[in-house]
This record gives sequence, C-alpha cells and structure tokens, in this order.
Amino acid sequence: MEIINVCIAPAPVTLSDDFCADDRTSGVASDELGIAAMKNIRTIAAANGIAKDAAFGAVTPPLYLSSNFAFREFEHEQEYEYSRTSNPTRNLLADTLAKLEGGGGAIVTSSGMAAVHLVLSLLHPGERVVAPHDCYGGTHRLLAALHDKGHFEVEFVDQQNEGALAAALQLGAALVIVETPSNPLMRVSDIEAISRQAKSVGARLAVDNTFLSPALQQPIALGADFVIHSTTKYLNGHSDVVGGAVIAANSIDLENLQSWANMTGVTGSPFDSYLTLRGVRSLFPRIERQQRTAGAVADFLDQRSEISVVHYPGLATHPNHELAQRQQSGFGAMLSFELNGGIAAVRRFVAALKIFTLAESLGGIESLIAHPATMTHVGMGAEARLAAGIGEGLLRVSIGLEAEEDLLSDLASSLAAIA
Ligand code: PLP
Repeated sequence: MEIINVCIAPAPVTLSDDFCADDRTSGVASDELGIAAMKNIRTIAAANGIAKDAAFGAVTPPLYLSSNFAFREFEHEQEYEYSRTSNPTRNLLADTLAKLEGGGGAIVTSSGMAAVHLVLSLLHPGERVVAPHDCYGGTHRLLAALHDKGHFEVEFVDQQNEGALAAALQLGAALVIVETPSNPLMRVSDIEAISRQAKSVGARLAVDNTFLSPALQQPIALGADFVIHSTTKYLNGHSDVVGGAVIAANSIDLENLQSWANMTGVTGSPFDSYLTLRGVRSLFPRIERQQRTAGAVADFLDQRSEISVVHYPGLATHPNHELAQRQQSGFGAMLSFELNGGIAAVRRFVAALKIFTLAESLGGIESLIAHPATMTHVGMGAEARLAAGIGEGLLRVSIGLEAEEDLLSDLASSLAAIA
C-alpha cells in the first residue's frame, strides 16, 4: 500500500485560468459535415452534426433506429445497409468522439468492456500485454481470463515504477494498456514517457481515458495509438446508458477495429448513441463544475482525522500532482480515501450518507460512493487487490452536480456518525 505523507499542509485545490480546456483545438481541420469553423473542442462537443439534417432541417440530429436500410437499386453499394455495420446516429457519435480525442476515427461499442475487448482482439496468441496492476477490476478480470484461455500473455505491473515497466517491456510486448488516473487509487501515469518506452520495443499503446474524458486529457496527442472509453461515465454523464468507444489514432487500425466490431457485433445501439451524444453536448460544463466541487471535497476530507489518506491528484501532497498538472487540463471529479477503522467504520459511514448513493459506476450528475474491495474490484481477487493497494477501508467517490455545501455537510455528518 502506498503511503502518502499527510503531515504536509496541503495547498487548496484551485483551477487557474490557464488550467482549463478552453483554448485547445481538436486538430481536425475540416470534414464532410462542413464544420471547419469548429476549431475549439468545446464547439465540437456542443455542435458537431447540429442543423445538418438534409431531410427536414432538424436542428438536433435525428435518431435512426432502423436496423436496415433499403438498397437504392440492385447491386448498389451504399454507406448504410445494416445497423450492426453502420448506422447514421452511431456514426455521428463516433465522429464526435474521434474529433474530441484528436483521433483518425472511432468505433462506438455496447459497453466499456466491449471497447477493451475490441482492442484486445488485435492480439495474436503468444503476444504479450503489459497492463497496470491497479486497473479497473473488470479489465483486470478480462485480461486474466483471456490469458488463461491462451489468447495472449499478460503481465500486470506497477506502472508508477519505471524500472518494473522497463523490465516487463524488455521481455517483449505487443500492447501496453494505461489507465490514468487509475481506478480507484487515482495514480497518474506519464503517458508520453510510457508511449516512448512502448514504442522502443514495438508495442502499441492503449489509454483508458474514462476517468477524465477528452475534456481534461487527450492521450493521442501524447503518443497513444488507441483511446478507450466507458462512455457510461462522463461522456454520457447521466447514468442512463452503458456504452463504450475505441478511438484509433490512425486509419489502418481503425479499419481493423471496425472489421472486428462488425464481425463480433459489439457495436453500440443507435438509441444509446443518441443519448450519449446528447450527454456529450454538456460534457465541458458538467465536468468543470464537478471537478471544482471535487477539489473542495478533497480539501475537506484531507483535514479530517477519521481519514488517513485522500487520493486526489489535485492535492499538492499527491505524489503525481505535478505530472497531473502537466498532462491533464484539470484534476477531474473522482477521488478516493482511506477511512481509519477498516470495514466497520466503512459500514457505519456509508449507512449514514444521505446524498451520496452507495453504487458502482461514476461520472454521472449524481454523487456516488463505492467500496472497491466489495464492489467494483471484487472480481480481481483478494491477492491482486492487496498487491494493487486496494484495502478494506478504501472508498471511491464520484462527485456530481449537487451543491458543494450539501455534499460537504453530508460527509461531515456521516464522519461524525462513525464515532
Ligand atoms: N474502464 C474503466 C476505467 C472503468 O471504470 C470501467 C467501468 O467502471 C470500464 C472501463 C468498463 O466500462 P463498462 O462498465 O461501460 O463496461
């Protein structure tokens, strides 16, 4: 378990003007939708595909639920034939996500795990994957299960430890997976440095950007070949869709992934795509507001004697604070903390909460609290959890859009209830 020195008085978490996503551009010059004027990715999130409906001039892009499309004539090749392969509503979401991430294209999948699996489908038996030992429990479980079935080799390493990563790569690797900030310990990995290390042994780099979204981090610009999302989280943002996406940096990978997604049928539904695009429209204001409150919550928890450590990259005492400041456009709205008193204290604390809901998932408009050891990371097994530093007193929090003062008072009264 990583011990963070909490004796140093932390600086309050604040977001300076130059630490926001306002001025970044997508790197996309123009496209067939005629949006060359959209230079700032905020505009892309809000307006990609708006008022482009050729049929009726609908301002909001229509939802095409149809599973199939009529052939205009016999032996006619056309873009839309069958919705597993291609669907206008899903394609607009994919186009928007690709532009937000600065990628060559995207595949929208039925879940975040389907997106992880889609990237893994590029591997051949005998090839090696190097993954973080503290990644999302579902990703850990999938990698271990596919390894056990002989699909590929996998090695879980502490990616914070440069030596351990270098040693793992020395044995050869086809794919490196990075999850930053990590779930649930909020460790920040240096994407650019890992990309260099991966490329030096010919490995591809996939970054799970679920915790920050493209509003706060853009891995392709830092050398990633693939960006993975559970769009269930910040991109949809309203906890009413399970979905995922893979954004590929280049078109060859994109075609390969598209072909696998079509063959295996993991593409997302049009209705979910519609809802997710609707969520993307408000991504920036949501996450900015949520991270402001998260900073205040982290400051508050950090002062409390009932808590031994707060994991939030925005705290000056966080071991990766400087890296987060350099690599991210914001510290995000996820944090975790270690409650003194172990599982008994956790039980009393969560039972007393009135606004935070005890539930899995994250990134929605509602504030959630999860106990990784018995919930999100239970599938990892006790040994792997211990190795990753996920203890019984650890709680993970996703900050929503409720008023900061209400959240702070909910936490204060629930901490008081432990005693
Ligand atoms: N990646 C991360 C970082 C996650 O937190 C999750 C789910 O919590 C996933 C991937 C899997 O996404 P989904 O639940 O949409 O399948």
